[in-house]
Amino acid sequence: MKEALNEIKERIAAAAKKAGRNPEEIRLVAVSKTYPLEAIEQAISYGCQEFGENKVQELTYKIERMNHDVRWHLIGHLQTNKVKYIVGKVDLIHSVDSIKLLEEIQKQSLKKDIITHVLLEVNVAEEESKYGFLMNEVKEILPLIEKFSHIRVDGLMTVAPYVEDPEENREIFKRLRQLSVDIQKQNINNIDMEILSMGMSNDYEIAIEEGANVVRIGTAIFGRRVYSHT
Ligand SMILES: *Cc1c(COP(=O)(O)O)cnc(C)c1O
Repeated sequence: MKEALNEIKERIAAAAKKAGRNPEEIRLVAVSKTYPLEAIEQAISYGCQEFGENKVQELTYKIERMNHDVRWHLIGHLQTNKVKYIVGKVDLIHSVDSIKLLEEIQKQSLKKDIITHVLLEVNVAEEESKYGFLMNEVKEILPLIEKFSHIRVDGLMTVAPYVEDPEENREIFKRLRQLSVDIQKQNINNIDMEILSMGMSNDYEIAIEEGANVVRIGTAIFGRRVYSHT
């Protein structure tokens, strides 16, 4: 894992340089879903500080048992009835994909008197199987976000299609970046497009070249996931 992380850091730095960017501005979220706490602890010992999980139950299980002070990211689809379990516990929710969900996050954040930071998930490639707002839907819901006093939208996230050649996703990343620039220009309350969360094990270098400042990497750090079906 140490070698894998070193290689990833080098590749992140090289991709950043290629794009004329400072490698320091790129945050690595280590996607630890399906991996045990020991694997997370190992990653921490090699310098990882941010971890991403896609299931609420697994996330809260790990948060409760983790002694180290790390940042947690929810990156998978969130059901409204589970919002109460994670508000106040996670650093950032990457996967906000409906107004209903925003309403529930607002409600739970108000209850706890905290501000919850989120990203809007965008289904740029318009894949049937994926969650997220469509590009034009995002533009339509923006004015509604001003009323959510206890939510800050910090940016956008996308899960690009799985492709053999990561170059195929370059256009997707470009489009998300452009959307984020367009939104920032609108100067909407509670919205600040600081974060572009895009790029996974297979395509993070291309994503960085196109403006990603948060990459979510699982397999390349922890190895292949084995899903148990018990
Ligand atoms: C699993 C997952 C990742 C990491 O994928 P890898 O291919 O293992 O790097 C990133 N983002 C989301 C939303 C995921 O569910």
